[in-house]
Amino acid sequence: MPNFLFRRAEIAARTLAGGSAAFRAAATAAVVLLTLSLTACGGDASGNSDSEKPVVLTTFTVLADVARNVAGDKLTVESITKAGAEIHGYEATPGDIRKAAKADLILDNGLNLEAWFGQFVEGLDVPHAVVSDGVEVMSISEDSYQGKPNPHAWMSPVNVQIYTDNMVKAFSELDPENAAVFKANGDAYKAELQGVQDEMKASLAGLPENQRALVTCEGAFSYLARDAGLKEVYIWAVNAEQQATPQQITRAIEYVKANQVPAVFCESTVSDAPMRQVVGATGAKFGGTLYVDSLSEADGPVPTYLDLIRHDAELITKALAGTSTASPGAKS
Ligand SMILES: [Zn+2]
Repeated sequence: MPNFLFRRAEIAARTLAGGSAAFRAAATAAVVLLTLSLTACGGDASGNSDSEKPVVLTTFTVLADVARNVAGDKLTVESITKAGAEIHGYEATPGDIRKAAKADLILDNGLNLEAWFGQFVEGLDVPHAVVSDGVEVMSISEDSYQGKPNPHAWMSPVNVQIYTDNMVKAFSELDPENAAVFKANGDAYKAELQGVQDEMKASLAGLPENQRALVTCEGAFSYLARDAGLKEVYIWAVNAEQQATPQQITRAIEYVKANQVPAVFCESTVSDAPMRQVVGATGAKFGGTLYVDSLSEADGPVPTYLDLIRHDAELITKALAGTSTASPGAKS
């Protein structure tokens, strides 16, 4: 029997065990029987039946997509937050907690991205892995977050190669029988990540020296800007309850004016109203909606992480080079 089934049975037995030792023994026996019969009925050594696959739960859609590339058809991967959701200040629902309690592994980004996560997993008997472990962390340089890690490490595809390695390791511990599959999937995906990293850098390298500023709502592009040699400017550091103060907006306006920045951007999960103010005060164009903290729905512009990087690089290049067709006011 695969390890995760043992584990699930053990957790179920503990959950069921309310009062007496006799009840606990009976519950354990029932669960063991159930598990044995599941294994016997499954009959498929490769574990391809959906109900038998271990369930991996990620905190947001970007991680879910990367995880699916590593898992292939061996694991069921789901995201707690849906496409378009705000991830930093998300509030987990009782349904999320029920879902998490039944999962076999939970993946989080770490670096303070999921402010709600510690409380969320407290008391859950489910292993979790922090997929950003081992990346070279950049610090936030402004506002009250100064010196704290910038959580958006996935905006560098080379960092996501490290995420991929961490997932290969976590999945192999969860389901050792398929370790070779996870390794092969991970290697193939890392090659794709390298490809998209090279494309992104080549695309942004063509921008003239005086148009190399990336002005966004949230300071979520530090890693991408570092990789592509852009200067990053933002209205607020990290999405939070209080953002876009008059001082923060004035600071962005002054920078855009002083540097004659041709286009500015905002992200899909936040209101772009503050950036519209910058546009109104400076004459810069609104360059369009960037994706960072969430993928789009399957039929939207960025259903996968690789699409997200390609989309953002193309939008930034076109808008800053003045060839954008994005109309002011249009939000994709
Ligand atoms: Zn963010």
